[in-house]
Amino acid sequence: MANTLHTLETDFLVAGGGMAGVCAAIAAARRGSRVVLIQDRSVLGGNASSEIKMHIVGADCHGSKPGTRESGLIEEFRLEDAVRNPHRCYSQWDLLLYEKVKLEPGITLLLDTDVVGAETENGVIRSVRAVRNLTEDEFVIRAKFFADCTGDGRLGVEAGADYHVGREARSDYGETLARDVADRHTLGSSILITGRRHDTPQPFIAPSWIRKFKKEDFKFRPINSYEYGYWWFEWGGQIDTLKDNEAIRHELLRIALGVWDYVKNSGDHPGSANWTLDWVGSIPGKRESRRFLGPHVLREQDVLGGRVFEDQVAYGGWAIDLHPPSGVDVPDERPFTPTGFRHIYSIPFGCYHSRNIANLFFAGRNISATHVAFASTRVMATCAIGGQAIGTAAALWRDAAGNDLRTLADGENIRALQQALLRDDAYLPGLKNDDPRDLSRRAATAATSQTHPAANVLDGVTRDLKASFGPWSSDSVHRWESASLPATLALTLPAPETIGEVHVTFDTGFERELILTASDHHSTKSVRGPQPETVRDYRLLLDGKVIAEVTGNYLRKRIHKLAAPATGKKLELEVTSTHGSPAARIFEIRAYAPENQPARP
Ligand SMILES: Cc1cc2nc3c(=O)[nH]c(=O)nc-3n(C[C@H](O)[C@H](O)[C@H](O)COP(=O)(O)OP(=O)(O)OC[C@H]3O[C@@H](n4cnc5c(N)ncnc54)[C@H](O)[C@@H]3O)c2cc1C
Repeated sequence: MANTLHTLETDFLVAGGGMAGVCAAIAAARRGSRVVLIQDRSVLGGNASSEIKMHIVGADCHGSKPGTRESGLIEEFRLEDAVRNPHRCYSQWDLLLYEKVKLEPGITLLLDTDVVGAETENGVIRSVRAVRNLTEDEFVIRAKFFADCTGDGRLGVEAGADYHVGREARSDYGETLARDVADRHTLGSSILITGRRHDTPQPFIAPSWIRKFKKEDFKFRPINSYEYGYWWFEWGGQIDTLKDNEAIRHELLRIALGVWDYVKNSGDHPGSANWTLDWVGSIPGKRESRRFLGPHVLREQDVLGGRVFEDQVAYGGWAIDLHPPSGVDVPDERPFTPTGFRHIYSIPFGCYHSRNIANLFFAGRNISATHVAFASTRVMATCAIGGQAIGTAAALWRDAAGNDLRTLADGENIRALQQALLRDDAYLPGLKNDDPRDLSRRAATAATSQTHPAANVLDGVTRDLKASFGPWSSDSVHRWESASLPATLALTLPAPETIGEVHVTFDTGFERELILTASDHHSTKSVRGPQPETVRDYRLLLDGKVIAEVTGNYLRKRIHKLAAPATGKKLELEVTSTHGSPAARIFEIRAYAPENQPARP
């Protein structure tokens, strides 16, 4: 046997390095857990990587629900990408995710490594088996908790977790958008392309094996740009998107090249004369395969009713975006039938862990949701915040007695998880900062000037809300905004305190979409650089002494861990400049005693 066997011990094993898996791993590691992240390909990001180039969207539906953009880790990545990658290079996005993972000392990253087996005892996963053929290595990895973020659910299946494939019948969950009769069809897969414009006309010589298209095939499938096409290159949901992946890839290549042949050679698109193919994907982007079953199965009524669950740990807002499984084979059907809504809905913890395997989390497109609800939850920013939620849970419960998530998820633990997520800049509909360890909550506020009150930084909400978000919301502003610059905000504590950590949450423009996309149309709505609302240069002072000084900030959440704890009563934030806004805009300030900093591995 050529393989070398390695045995690893960790706290949390994450299988799959798409947006859900990356966020799960980083969230757990930043809270002190040892994490093994296993990704079967050479780059991270899943469908958002340079291999597939699908742009990440989420609750704000391309900016049409302003204010609902996801915060936390995904916002950190988006902001850094906008600044460091203004020219929209997908490989730089891959490398940003790689850097984020590699710079976490608690994460062991295994790239090019497939999870292929699991050892389960009495409904508890003991270890996972993974293989890296490139180096002829094999791993057996033991952990307290395991997360399946593989999209296809390989880890869960190996462990014996309950799952579902296909479209449920209306009678199964009482969903109006479900079909009369259940079937095993799913959304199809797609291969995307990008194009490049040249100064002179360029030919396209079509290979012999492509599909041939005619004008009628595009009745509902617009060809309105040549630089990035087209999400509706969809096919294969009528067969098995997992087992038939090779056949699907071939058909998708025939479709992609066939459409490009039509664009270039039909005469219907003279504007394409100077355009060539720049890149053609080779990995089918998969929309749907298995969905696990958890204590709760999210359904249409939860999504359309904007339900707020007691045990919410994430939220969504994308339309219920259903597609015909056979995609381009049905040119007379629209490629998608979205059911939109104006609110956002919450997703409970019960959708993120298995109902029959004690220590198995999942996040991403394989969470516990019906086909109809999944058609909304599947977008990648929603996947990312679910990943952050399970990573945070795994870290919080690392030292808990036992590893059965069904019993760990009691009221008290869930409330602690929700507060931990808010502390890490996640957003949960209707919930506020209620962290008793946050010293700033007892402070009095004052500011050198204000167009929105300084006290807003302590109201526990870190974004401006619109009444349309849900019944728990009203049109309200939750930021301090100065009248001009420079400006200073002061928090005066009732008595001197020793402070080890100060958190500041800035405004990064949730009124706009922020997206990395190969589509020029979508990209023009984003600012590819620092967001103009964001504070650039600032200082923190405690009783007049500078405890932190920052120039060139562009992030939303900044955590200042003080090199030496400082004692004082008056904490001031002095803002001298922004990236464009004439005023300082701050959503929250928190202060913690030194002992409350999460331990590092
Ligand atoms: C063509 C297309 C268009 C879409 N449009 C959008 C859109 O506009 N915006 C949007 O946000 N979403 C869109 N989606 C949906 C979205 O891309 C998926 O729902 C999303 O990628 C799911 O994220 P994930 O992290 O669960 O899975 P993935 O992105 O699939 O990531 C899972 C990762 O796990 C790895 N993996 C799989 N098996 C194993 C294993 N056994 N061991 C180790 N690693 C493994 C895979 O290589 C992959 O990298 C689209 C999807 C497709 C295909």
